[in-house]
Amino acid sequence: MRKHAPAALALAAALLLAGCAQEQPSASSQIFAMDTVMSLEVYGDGAEERAAQAAETIYRLEDLWDVTDEGSEIWALDHSGGAWVDLSPETAELLDQALALCALTDGALDLTAYPAVRAWGFTTGDYRVPAREELEALVPLIDYTRLELDAAGARARLPEGMELDLGAVAKGYAGALLARQLREAGTASALLSLGGNIQAVGARPDGSPWRIAIQDPAQDGQAALGVVEIVDQAVVTSGGYQRYFEEDGTRYWHIMDPDTAAPARGGLSSVTVIGADGTVCDALSTALFVMGAERAADFWRDHPELEVELILTAEDGSVQITQGLEDCFEPAQGLEAAVIAP
Ligand code: ADP
Ligand code: MG
Repeated sequence: MRKHAPAALALAAALLLAGCAQEQPSASSQIFAMDTVMSLEVYGDGAEERAAQAAETIYRLEDLWDVTDEGSEIWALDHSGGAWVDLSPETAELLDQALALCALTDGALDLTAYPAVRAWGFTTGDYRVPAREELEALVPLIDYTRLELDAAGARARLPEGMELDLGAVAKGYAGALLARQLREAGTASALLSLGGNIQAVGARPDGSPWRIAIQDPAQDGQAALGVVEIVDQAVVTSGGYQRYFEEDGTRYWHIMDPDTAAPARGGLSSVTVIGADGTVCDALSTALFVMGAERAADFWRDHPELEVELILTAEDGSVQITQGLEDCFEPAQGLEAAVIAP
């Protein structure tokens, strides 16, 4: 017994040290990409290198998708005059997945809403309220069904005059891809915050769930609506409080209703989607914001196969959560969240 004691003690001490070391992110970096601030926290062996690789991947995706960059694949698609454009595997994969989500949401998500986004000045910051006739002329240009994707051949084409952008899904896809790469490299714990899109790999190093604060749109995101606990999931929020301008007392935001080419007015101020697939969560956060609370709740009931949960905040400040969040969403003090049942 006595003989083994020092070895046992040494082992216990080593475990304790490892335990302490795990509390700190092994690597933590902040980058600016895709028009927003991103932070990458990676834990465990090789964290430094994996965080650096993740940043490289984000910059590469940004170069592929920046709608204003003449060297990007999306710029090429938007300016090819209807000709086929060759795509990288990532762009083809994202377009394939996103087009399916455009169809699933009955066009509430529409990748070709870009002419409307531009007409309102969201691409340059020169905000304006376009005339009715101008918007009426834009509506026929918004139609994702006219984007032809040859996924196997990794190429696509868009009719002349139409334009698409991946703003509604790019960060979600980036989070999903990075999570996949980190898991494959053996990382068991990481938290990626990509400008409002949260993507978790595993749980916290101590095994407890990540605790993610959801911004309260009524306070321009300065306070929390509550906290949601997640493991291995994405948490994506779209809201009218993130990018907007005001004119004559009316607020106009960057999420467009494809039917009107104007900011979507479904009565919601924010939508948070929680689920395993970051691309799905990002696509739905935008689409459900367009749909409004009632249609969003119906969509959730109709699509249990998507395995997502929702937090819907209405413009009157009321909050609804879907039933699966009852045990993992903690509302801020004094807040009552109504539950949407299946
Ligand atoms: P954010 O990127 O601010 O987190 P979203 O994911 O909701 O928010 O994406 C909004 C972006 O998507 C807009 O900036 C615009 O480029 C594009 N967009 C706006 N309306 C739509 C829509 N109905 N369908 C698809 N993309 C849209
Ligand atoms: Mg989105």
